[in-house]
Amino acid sequence: MILEKEQAKKGIITDAVKAVAKQENIEAEKLAASIAEGRSVILKHRNSIKGIGENLSIKVNTNIGTSPDVCSLSFELEKLKVACDLKTDTVMDLSTGGNLDLIRKEIVNASSVPVGSVPVYQAVIEAIEKHGTIEGLTGDGIFDVIERHARDGISFITVHCGVTLSCLDILKRKTRKTGVVSRGGAFLVSWMALTGKENPLYSEFDRLVELARRYDLVLSLGDGLRPGSLADASDNLQMSELLVLGRCVEKAHDANVQVIIEGPGHIPLNQIVANVHLAKTICHSAPLYLLGPIVTDIAAGYDHITSAIGGAIAGWAGADFLCYVTPSEHLALPSIEDVEDGVVASKIAAHAADIARGNAQAQQWDSTMAQARYNRDWHQQEDLSINPLRFKKIRSSQKIFSDEVCNMCGKYCAMKIMNDTIKKMGF
Ligand code: SF4
Repeated sequence: MILEKEQAKKGIITDAVKAVAKQENIEAEKLAASIAEGRSVILKHRNSIKGIGENLSIKVNTNIGTSPDVCSLSFELEKLKVACDLKTDTVMDLSTGGNLDLIRKEIVNASSVPVGSVPVYQAVIEAIEKHGTIEGLTGDGIFDVIERHARDGISFITVHCGVTLSCLDILKRKTRKTGVVSRGGAFLVSWMALTGKENPLYSEFDRLVELARRYDLVLSLGDGLRPGSLADASDNLQMSELLVLGRCVEKAHDANVQVIIEGPGHIPLNQIVANVHLAKTICHSAPLYLLGPIVTDIAAGYDHITSAIGGAIAGWAGADFLCYVTPSEHLALPSIEDVEDGVVASKIAAHAADIARGNAQAQQWDSTMAQARYNRDWHQQEDLSINPLRFKKIRSSQKIFSDEVCNMCGKYCAMKIMNDTIKKMGF
């Protein structure tokens, strides 16, 4: 197994580095140096490859997966197709219902992008099925599931290594409004409280690192104690977890394991930049992966918008990877339309931040679109739009009187008036 970080440290430019450098239009040597320092990572999948981190375009992840209540493999595969068609950069299988091994394999096989997962979900479900209680969970059970996921071609895994016994003392002080909202975090807190044992993902971190080395599996260090409301943003629990993750990054980097840091969650606008800078500083500039962030708690049904607002600011401040949020966040398992809305909203946020960060490819895309718009070249505009199907649907639903204008202004089209004037006056 080629360890990308190890090769990069030796100054070797691997095929994966060459491929990502070409995608991103940057120098391979520059990318390799960033991987060697742990500021970028490469996710490898049998059908594709993606780079995340410094000097790279901001990537978008789409969560799919069954729940105990809504469990259909074909439904999840349809969501996968929609997300891939809309150019999501990765997907995560968060399934918790049905035959989890089968669902994961099918998603990995059908995906055209790298696939991530959260193995602790399956470890807990199997422990409950076998022992009737979450107390049956063991370190061996967790590591067995992680290895199964890696063997099946999972590219990155969320591991909540920063949820430790010490956080229970802070939780007991009841300073939080919304407790622990991460599913993995809640499982581990509950297990630690019931058994009095330390989280194996923390106490056996060396074992985790060894396993990751075997498969060049990227560890996404999860934010199991992330705030679930603005009231809990940037609090003691969130920060104490981040400090633990910073130490985990050092250990993983020493072993040439690639690492991503996951971040919140719910954060008010005025705290986003500070949160990004803090995570980057404490975690040695490892790529930062944010869920949203959602910037207000009151917009149920519209959280693809609240998260896109947060994602754009976070991306501009230095976040590298945005996890989409759908309109059904906090309400239900996403529908196909929710996935579509969520991916597009997150792609827009990432792209807007890319432009602000000076990404030349992103800026060129907008520049070409602006020219097509000025020329009223509807075919080119459709091709260049973030969701061509939506462009076509809206334009074709309207009565078009002239191909030179749209029916917003009709014969008073400013673009046409200016084009005609310039032609007539020979400007
Ligand atoms: S009609 Fe108005 S909205 Fe439509 S292209 Fe012309 S200026 Fe733009």
